[in-house]
Amino acid sequence: MPGVLALSLPAKGARFTLTTVERRPPRADDVRIDIAFCGICHTDLHVGHDDWGGTPFPLVPGHEITGVVSEVGDAVTRFAVGDRVGVGCMVDSCRKCAPCTSGEEQFCAEGFVKTYADRDRDGAVTMGGYSRSIVVSEHYVLRIPDALELAAAAPLLCAGVTVYSPLRRWAAGPGRKVGVLGMGGLGHLGVRIAAAMGAEVTLLSRSPDKRDDALRLGATRFADTRDSAETARLAGHFDLLLNTVPAPLDVDAHLGLLGVGGTFVTVGAPGDAVASYNVFSLLGARRAIAGSSIGGIRETQEVLGFCAEHGIAAEIETIPAAGVPEAWQNLSGVRYRYVIDVATLGTA
Ligand code: NAP
Ligand code: ZN
Repeated sequence: MPGVLALSLPAKGARFTLTTVERRPPRADDVRIDIAFCGICHTDLHVGHDDWGGTPFPLVPGHEITGVVSEVGDAVTRFAVGDRVGVGCMVDSCRKCAPCTSGEEQFCAEGFVKTYADRDRDGAVTMGGYSRSIVVSEHYVLRIPDALELAAAAPLLCAGVTVYSPLRRWAAGPGRKVGVLGMGGLGHLGVRIAAAMGAEVTLLSRSPDKRDDALRLGATRFADTRDSAETARLAGHFDLLLNTVPAPLDVDAHLGLLGVGGTFVTVGAPGDAVASYNVFSLLGARRAIAGSSIGGIRETQEVLGFCAEHGIAAEIETIPAAGVPEAWQNLSGVRYRYVIDVATLGTA
């Protein structure tokens, strides 16, 4: 099998180059997927910029992958050639530990194998979805419901499940007041999904020009985080704050917006990852600080079903592969997720 066309960052600070990557011949439980679309997640930028350290270069990012099965291994039972499928942030895990066997592979005791910039269990460095095809064990492949278009479904594989999982765990639903902090790829799906779950949703954003979109997507209130008087009026209001901001923020100020027993859950992962808080911000109202990481395979399938049922997909801007460098420069300008039309890779 000749190499597979891919967009690669050869080194930190380098430009994207068109290259080829090797994909293993499908093993018994593998499927080969011809990739149609891949979302651009802010995590791609964190890793590409080596914000968290340890990025292996060359890097082929991309973990919001949708496409069509083109080949299956002998022992594959769940997929056939032609099926519409997706791959999110993980391509393997130990499959034996308690989290893996209970469907929370994202907390695998050995660490799950990330779709890119990680060591696969055979030692190879994983390469993501900014490429024409990928080979993945069927256990880590998701089925895309017919009701969802492949392009708009792609961001559900990371952004969607990353907000769905904590919204479910902290019981977003009727009678619950949920605040979503930041409306980019994750945040806009957070607003939509929390509203579809029946919660009362507020968007807290530094961008007043997102007010109308927030209300259209299901929020009942918009608060400008740059206006301290506006946010102060929400003191003690929320049961749950879902933080999607990829930059450090004032934790105490946000804890003050939670009512008794409220929880501040962060999914945003800034490069400067150390945050501090005053313990009295917690004690005075039995508040909690929590974090959440993507979701397991079962939950990722569940969010796809939930979104199909509720008519939810990501709001996307589809771009050709040649537009990726500009998209990375302008990630905060997109409404609300760039998705690469992977068929354009290598065409211009
Ligand atoms: P994104 O599309 O860039 O959206 C981030 C939003 O945060 C922006 O649109 C903006 O919304 C707000 N924001 C406030 N201050 C900002 C700043 N200084 N720089 C940039 N944005 C700022 O990002 P994303 O793809 O949604 O990802 C968000 C974060 O979640 C990233 O750190 C990413 O790595 C992380 N993530 C975590 C997981 C996990 O499993 N925990 C999974 C995926 C992604 P407003 O204009 O509305 O303020
Ligand atoms: Zn992501």
